[in-house]
Amino acid sequence: MRERISRAQLTGAMLVRFGMARWGRRFRSRAAFDAWQERRVQRFRRRLVAAPFYRALLDANPGRRPVRLPVVDKTVHLEHFDGLNTRGIRLADALGVALEAEQSRDFSPTVGGDLTVGLSSGTSGRRGVFLVSPRERMLWAGTVLGRLLDAGSVRRLLLPWRPPLRIAFFLRAGGGLYESVASSRVRFTFFDLTESFDAHLAELRAAADAGRGPDVLVAPASVLDALARRADAGELRIRPRLVISVAEVLEPDTASRVELAWGRPPRQVYQATEGLLALSCGHGALHLNEETVRFEREWQGDDGTRFVPIVTDFERSTQLVVRYRLDDVLRVDPAAPERCACGRVTTVLAGVDGREDSVLRLPSIDGRAMVEVFPDAARRAMAVGSAGYADWRIRQRGLDVHVRLEEPAPGAPKAVTAALESLFSAYGCHAAVVHAPWEPEDPAHKRRRILREVTP
Ligand SMILES: [Zn+2]
Repeated sequence: MRERISRAQLTGAMLVRFGMARWGRRFRSRAAFDAWQERRVQRFRRRLVAAPFYRALLDANPGRRPVRLPVVDKTVHLEHFDGLNTRGIRLADALGVALEAEQSRDFSPTVGGDLTVGLSSGTSGRRGVFLVSPRERMLWAGTVLGRLLDAGSVRRLLLPWRPPLRIAFFLRAGGGLYESVASSRVRFTFFDLTESFDAHLAELRAAADAGRGPDVLVAPASVLDALARRADAGELRIRPRLVISVAEVLEPDTASRVELAWGRPPRQVYQATEGLLALSCGHGALHLNEETVRFEREWQGDDGTRFVPIVTDFERSTQLVVRYRLDDVLRVDPAAPERCACGRVTTVLAGVDGREDSVLRLPSIDGRAMVEVFPDAARRAMAVGSAGYADWRIRQRGLDVHVRLEEPAPGAPKAVTAALESLFSAYGCHAAVVHAPWEPEDPAHKRRRILREVTP
């Protein structure tokens, strides 16, 4: 059942969403929000029968009691791909379009007439495949723009005699999602990260010199970091009024470098192919996108601070994401106030710890157990001596912890070893810290500062 809607209807859907995301939906309390969300989820459940996978489950349980739906993951989604979408698209066809797009770097082809195909980043194992309809893309754009654009940018958009808003995107995959919102008021420039970064810099410099530098800069955190370093060194004179970090965990050191370079802290979009998961507000808090996604929490440890989310996106109607277990570990502050200074009652994340394989697993000092060292702790330890190096990576291989430092000052490796050893002993575990030479990385790959390469 293809949604046949016109371009005008799509734009309308985006504008309504823009307004809702920006000015709408304020709740009295978290309880009021939960009741509202529950009604949305119930309405969504009635639409599940459009997907054969859920129709079969619900048909097998015709009783009055609500069926407890299974938790699914990437493997289940790939195995049951044909039954989990409501348009009868086959995995082979979707995969064919996605792989062809990645190879040709032309992301315009669609499947089923109008669906774009996204591939989740595959650091290990098979990659997830996700279908998105034009309407879903528009709702996404409305939410992101409505939540993140500053007042000045919105005025620019609305006043036809002003120049259009220029948005520069640094992306690893296609801009199809973003191109859908291009208009006479918004100009997008795409910088494909699989192409030469120096050529992109030259283009950006030329644009800035001609007075056409970007108003809004959108890039993965590691790319923002690289651009901010060049701006800081006087090699790149752009003056974005809004900087948005996407696709990677935004670490505090990158955030402060961006603020130093362009005078304002970056806003953050925590987005996976599986959905739009969190957005930062004007007060710098990263809010879960609970207006369209329900987050069940699979707690890690017993202090109520870390969980793996199981997400249900109750707005998707093409490929259903229901009780989908993500790979990421999220962190919350149990003592956080119910309401953020921005007025929202949605959950504020204390941090995104990233993939589960960003957690080091090291033997306890008595050798009887494995101890988990969470990435925020490792990052804090690395931040202590960060004046002594430009960047760093940590890799757990077997039971050893390998460290690479970029441009280390004399004595920096020794200080890092000491900082990590004292961290490990505070956690009651130990590991040999091994230093290896720095290796430059391809900006086309997602930056992973901490990675457990081998499961001990
Ligand atoms: Zn807030």
